[in-house]
Amino acid sequence: SAFLKNIEAGNGALNAYVAVTADKALEMAKASDERLAKGEGGALEGIPLGVKDLFATKGIHTQACSHVLDGFKPTYESTVTSNLWADGAVMLGKLNMDEFAMGSSNESSYYGPAVNPWKAKGSDEKLVPGGSSGGSAAAVAARLCMGATATDTGGSIRQPAAFTGTVGIKPTYGRCSRWGVVAYASSLDQAGPIAHDVRDAAILLKSMASVDAKDTTSVDIEVPDYEAAIGQSVKGLKIGIPAEYRIEGLPAEIDALWKQGIQMLKDAGAEIVDISLPHTKYALPAYYIVAPAEASSNLARYDGVRYGLRVPGKDIVEMYENSRAAGFGSEVQRRILVGTYVLSAGYYDAYYLKAQKVRTLIKRDFEQAFHAGVDAILTPITPSSAFAIGDKELAADPVKMYLQDVFSVTLNMAGLPGISVPAGLDSKGLPLGLQLIGRPFGESTLFQTAS
Ligand code: GLN
Repeated sequence: SAFLKNIEAGNGALNAYVAVTADKALEMAKASDERLAKGEGGALEGIPLGVKDLFATKGIHTQACSHVLDGFKPTYESTVTSNLWADGAVMLGKLNMDEFAMGSSNESSYYGPAVNPWKAKGSDEKLVPGGSSGGSAAAVAARLCMGATATDTGGSIRQPAAFTGTVGIKPTYGRCSRWGVVAYASSLDQAGPIAHDVRDAAILLKSMASVDAKDTTSVDIEVPDYEAAIGQSVKGLKIGIPAEYRIEGLPAEIDALWKQGIQMLKDAGAEIVDISLPHTKYALPAYYIVAPAEASSNLARYDGVRYGLRVPGKDIVEMYENSRAAGFGSEVQRRILVGTYVLSAGYYDAYYLKAQKVRTLIKRDFEQAFHAGVDAILTPITPSSAFAIGDKELAADPVKMYLQDVFSVTLNMAGLPGISVPAGLDSKGLPLGLQLIGRPFGESTLFQTAS
């Protein structure tokens, strides 16, 4: 009830929730109370959570914040949310996001942008909460839930966490089941939590993670007690600092924050080692080939027949065209066009195949660093703090918006886990994060180091 009141008071300004499931929340909370009264109960008993609109929730609004999925209410529940409810968590509602998780500012949502609860010192300008999981980050930061589900294809958990002073972890590809998560780029998509602090993130991920027969890319490895890693000493851990993340034009404040993070870990007894990940600069362009390619294929299913919106036409082809033209926003249309282009017969080898080869090289860079004994890698996560909603420069040039993801997409290309942890405020008083990248299934080391 307290969280529903917070939502009622705060959501008008923040637009973090696109659907509030108040009755369902109270019903789930009551069942939770009853279990607790009987001395039963799971790890998340009674904990109220928000759910990114990308997760299928049975009988409840699930539209990936797209017009094309108008009115879609799945007849099934995603595995990740099923796991959370099985542990006793309570659903408050569905959270705003960039349409189909494509974006870095939550501005491509059909429901309009979510708003960052943070403001720059002395300014009333509305800032983005990051994207695509902007609603998740804004809701956690503003105490409109105790934690939220999110997804990360190329930074969508970690960048919004950094922009809102929250913690977000993108686990190893295969750690969480993708079943019931609306697909963007299937070889990159992973679910994970956004939470108030590292401990909450550890508890939430423990519940979300599982092997799942319905997702053959989920991996059958025991899910460790992540919470046990919290507060463990980092003495003797080897932390790699990759030279290639010192990109041209890196703002002095971000560089200073990074140095401060290095010093903190050094003071805590970690061994700092310089490493090289030589193919880093190709990660962003390769990502923006692979991700749209997979998206163009995944989004072919929205044809006006099987789901949501249907705009009639004189025949079936015109109906497809009308439905897709009216249903997809401009960023999604751009991705579909880029994706079909790089997959087309004439360009497949030059773009898509080349990008896949680059992907292998990026993966090998990381493998070499870990083979040399590095336990985790410390980098910046964003090239700036939160920017203004409607920023003209970013709106005018999509590539400038894509450059927001320069530090985040690398590990998705390699399938590795990464955590974004609040590390300070900039001169405007806005939160900044740092990123730790881990070995495959090295989430415990990330929680240990981040905490
Ligand atoms: N900003 C990136 C994109 O638009 C990442 C999105 C994501 O991780 N879902 O593709």
